[in-house]
Amino acid sequence: MPSERELLRTYFGYTGFLPMQEDIINDLLNGKDVFVLMPTGSGKSLCYQLPALMLPGVTIVVSPLIALMKDQVDSLRANGIGASFINSTLSTKEIEDVKIRLLERKDRLLYIAPERFTSPDFMPFLKMLTISLFAIDEAHCISEWGHDFRPDYRRLKILKEHFPHVPVAALTASAVPEVQHDILQQLELKEPVLYKASFNRPNLSYYVRPKEDAYNQMVNYLRLRRNDSGIIYCQSRRSAETIAQTLRDDGFRALAYHAGMPADERTENQELFIRDDADIIVATIAFGMGIHKTNVRYVIHYDLPKNIESYYQETGRAGRDGLASDCILFFSYGDKKKIEHLIEKSHNQQRKRIAYKKLDAVLRFCEAFECRRKLLLGYFGEACGVSCGKCDTCLEPRETIDGTEIAQKVIACIQGVKQRFGAGYIASLLAGKENKRSAAYRHHELQSFGSGKDYSRKQWTLWIRELAARGYVAVAGDKYPILALNQKSYDIAAGRLSVLLAKPKEKPEIAHVPETEQMRVDTALFEMLRALRKRIADTEGVPPYVIFHDTTLKELSTYFPQDMESMKQIYGMGQRKLERYGKQFLEAVIAHCTAHNIKSFRKPDRERQGRVAAPASDTYAKTLELCRQGLTLEDIARTRGLAAGTIVSHIEKLLMQGEDIAIDRLVSTEKQRAIVQCMDALGSVYLTPLKERLGDGYSYEELRLVRAHARRINSLASV
Ligand code: ADP
Ligand code: ZN
Repeated sequence: MPSERELLRTYFGYTGFLPMQEDIINDLLNGKDVFVLMPTGSGKSLCYQLPALMLPGVTIVVSPLIALMKDQVDSLRANGIGASFINSTLSTKEIEDVKIRLLERKDRLLYIAPERFTSPDFMPFLKMLTISLFAIDEAHCISEWGHDFRPDYRRLKILKEHFPHVPVAALTASAVPEVQHDILQQLELKEPVLYKASFNRPNLSYYVRPKEDAYNQMVNYLRLRRNDSGIIYCQSRRSAETIAQTLRDDGFRALAYHAGMPADERTENQELFIRDDADIIVATIAFGMGIHKTNVRYVIHYDLPKNIESYYQETGRAGRDGLASDCILFFSYGDKKKIEHLIEKSHNQQRKRIAYKKLDAVLRFCEAFECRRKLLLGYFGEACGVSCGKCDTCLEPRETIDGTEIAQKVIACIQGVKQRFGAGYIASLLAGKENKRSAAYRHHELQSFGSGKDYSRKQWTLWIRELAARGYVAVAGDKYPILALNQKSYDIAAGRLSVLLAKPKEKPEIAHVPETEQMRVDTALFEMLRALRKRIADTEGVPPYVIFHDTTLKELSTYFPQDMESMKQIYGMGQRKLERYGKQFLEAVIAHCTAHNIKSFRKPDRERQGRVAAPASDTYAKTLELCRQGLTLEDIARTRGLAAGTIVSHIEKLLMQGEDIAIDRLVSTEKQRAIVQCMDALGSVYLTPLKERLGDGYSYEELRLVRAHARRINSLASV
């Protein structure tokens, strides 16, 4: 019997296990029940697919969605593993054929929908087989707490009744504690071994943008992503249709997907997207469950999501292949109102309360000044110490101004209206906007009325929210929040405390998303290989990623293998795929190399372990070189024709990737010492409080450099 690692190599083309996979596999091989809670893209399927190859009998996989089953069976077969599914799309004759294949031991895995157990002849059939393992995929479907409840999952406890000695693996990506509890209880697992992974998805970057001129912001972003796949989520069917149409008019290959469309059209659009025949799907939340497309490079939330759970799940569909991907959310208070309106329609008070609470968490996420990833993980009960350096709040610290006077005006106004009104109203008073309410209360006679005429009502709203978010004023009341004063407010009013606030924006920010980390991919070759993959996929009637993942094509266009032996080193190049497609892809690579006089690179060993580490791209390499030459920040920026902030982002990233860079030429050692001391004293690595404490003598660039440098030192210390 070949070892686990040999099988991993031969059948899947992977050189190592992802975290926890090996332990889970060993437990299953030893006949234990396991409960696997890992986020999307962490390689759950392999945890039962590999044991299926090693165990003597059949592995039965329960899966809730037909599309998902087909997808997995296609992928397994492409790797040379016998697998089938039984579901309602098959005729009686086809089902009989599958049963025969199983009895003849031709297939190692059988995928079934939970409804199958209602069919009276199914259990007797299972008893005729030797069953080695049950895998319950998307196990959260068993729980009413989850959003994907499937009553048929409740039947699954009969597995343990009928097959008490066959191990069961329950797998899910749902982190909600109630759901976990339901799964464990209802499946009646026997002393299951629990595997719980971090829900951090390090390859995803999170951005929240003001929803102003959102369509154009989005199009600017999409133009940079011409050949990439992405999902745009919106709340209504109508907007899904219109946005998809407008994008098509603007030359994008975009399709709509929502529950109101005829079923066949919906399936067709999904299929076109999966097969890379459409780049963009504009969808309501109806889309996505069971979509295993691995190369979704971005997920955009055009409208505000209702809760963090769905936001996390929807963004989770990006970057399953582990390559850098973006999650962008357009945020507006108008959307918040729309959701509140929907909530109000419910008559169930309990449900209403939960819905408001969940919406509140979404708002906190959007309004945050701290690392978005931290907030997201915190929501799922996961503490994460340092800021991620990959979300907008980490990457783009906002410029600040002395906001003491502004805060004093706000506080005076709150006092003037006796702490009985909300942010929107206070903002209109400050901006000097009269309305029925202010007339009724004679608030236009207040001294505060119009005291902030220089700025718009909107700007005042933003500042008030910032003051509230940072605890300089208090917010009371649940549904209609009312502004009130606290000790800090009085300190500010008395001139004892000063504050920094965000500098007002001149015009709406255009979505700018930093370059993502990439291998040094030969894009011309990559595109050629993509086209080749597409031709083969269409001939074989499977989605392109079943042939090869993007990662495989990227590696081919990075290392340019020149013979079958070096082809073997490429990610995802298992024995079967090598035999089947190796020659065609090798020939394409060789032809390209001959035409362009390119030499192959040996794939570095470090990268053979599982996922690919991203080497610095050219632009980073240039910055690095100038740093090493000892230039100052200003000189590097000038030489490169880039903003100092951009250079700092490069250096941050280089440090994060483990480059050793001395920053003494960039920030004086005294300043470095002061900044580090300040970080320690405040117990914080956020820029705003640091800047507040250190004052004008220190630039944001300096703070960012020292912070990034300190992180690198810390990470070395913890190795
Ligand atoms: P999940 O079911 O947890 O969402 P998948 O099973 O779809 O995750 O796997 C996510 C991605 O990781 C897939 O592209 C899969 O091929 C890849 N993968 C799984 N195991 C490994 C491994 N050991 N090495 C490299 N890639 C892997
Ligand atoms: Zn962050």
